[in-house]
Amino acid sequence: GQCIKACPVGALTPKYQINDVWNAIHDKLKTVVVQIAPAVRVALGEYFGFEPGTVTTGQIVSALRMMGFNKVYDTCFAADLTVIEEGNEFLKRLEKGDNLPQFTSCCPGWVKFAEQYYPDMLPNISSCRSPQQMFGSLCKDKLTKEANIKREDLVVVSIMPCTAKKYEANREEFRVNGNKDVDFVLTTQELALMIKERGIEFSSLEPGSFDMPFGFKSGASVIFGTSGGVSEAVLRYAVDKVTNNSFTDYKQLRVDSNLKITEVNVGGKVLRLAIVSGLGNTRKLIDKIRRGEEYFDLVEVMACCGGCVNGGGQPVTDSSNGVKARAKGLYDNDVMLQVHSSQENPYLQKVYDADLDEHKAHELLHTVYKNRKRISGEDIMITEAGTDKKL
Ligand code: SF4
Repeated sequence: GQCIKACPVGALTPKYQINDVWNAIHDKLKTVVVQIAPAVRVALGEYFGFEPGTVTTGQIVSALRMMGFNKVYDTCFAADLTVIEEGNEFLKRLEKGDNLPQFTSCCPGWVKFAEQYYPDMLPNISSCRSPQQMFGSLCKDKLTKEANIKREDLVVVSIMPCTAKKYEANREEFRVNGNKDVDFVLTTQELALMIKERGIEFSSLEPGSFDMPFGFKSGASVIFGTSGGVSEAVLRYAVDKVTNNSFTDYKQLRVDSNLKITEVNVGGKVLRLAIVSGLGNTRKLIDKIRRGEEYFDLVEVMACCGGCVNGGGQPVTDSSNGVKARAKGLYDNDVMLQVHSSQENPYLQKVYDADLDEHKAHELLHTVYKNRKRISGEDIMITEAGTDKKL
């Protein structure tokens, strides 16, 4: 498929937030916590002489501690949450036959594209917030209560492969009384700059381990960083829930192209899945779905070809082999972790039991989308998803 390497929200100039983050770290009144996205751990090392795909999670954790972050957490914990929430939503839709296919929602480049160009498809997008935003809202809710601090004094920083994540963190719906769930978003590139600024010798760091509970994850969450990974993670949960089958990896979902169509048998029912990456390829696929030429139950969309491993904030690589090596790094990392399905993450279950009844889960982990279709010039008409009702 066609693929141009570009920031999916190219109209926005990425805002560098390195100074804001240093200021927060040096502010004695603030508690500053950081989360790192799956794709970062297999790419950051490239700035320090490691081969693409080398998993440097331990060194990244140590570097972040040396930089002065109070807690170092893993976005993967929130990706496990996403799997459970999105998997339950998918099973409900399947049961009712409503709003299928379900589109994934963890890529803000894709979500914004849908809001602008395919507003009629908005009811089909999963209402789940992305892992970055689930992490932010949960953290601000839980940690402020536990440490008895004000929301304003807890600063949440994300390290992301992506410039669209900066735009996502700024969205109005991800704030409480004006205070953002995720305060600052740094790309993999910006983190490399900060490590260099601080004079840290990354390649010779002793590895460190994440803080708990938001540092524990299943292998399913790690593969979120590559195209196909979200679908595989959701299936590992949903199929287990329907058939009580223990872990199977769905190797047929591991993509070698920018569009993969596959079928999976779940308890006698055949599900049709599409995994697409790159917005040009997405447009073609959606046009086919709209014309009724294709039918799917689940569609995973990533704006960057190959998924987040190839995000606009990652190290520049001139070969597709580099991107493939990063994806392989994530799949290998999954194998080396203790559990491989999100429902097996014991800390996740504790957080559900202690902090997330149905109401709270809805409030912290889900969102709504807006029709942002440009009607004329700069005017953006905001309407309820899938309708003409003005908001
Ligand atoms: Fe960002 Fe990943 Fe989406 Fe690319 S695929 S825009 S890196 S979330």
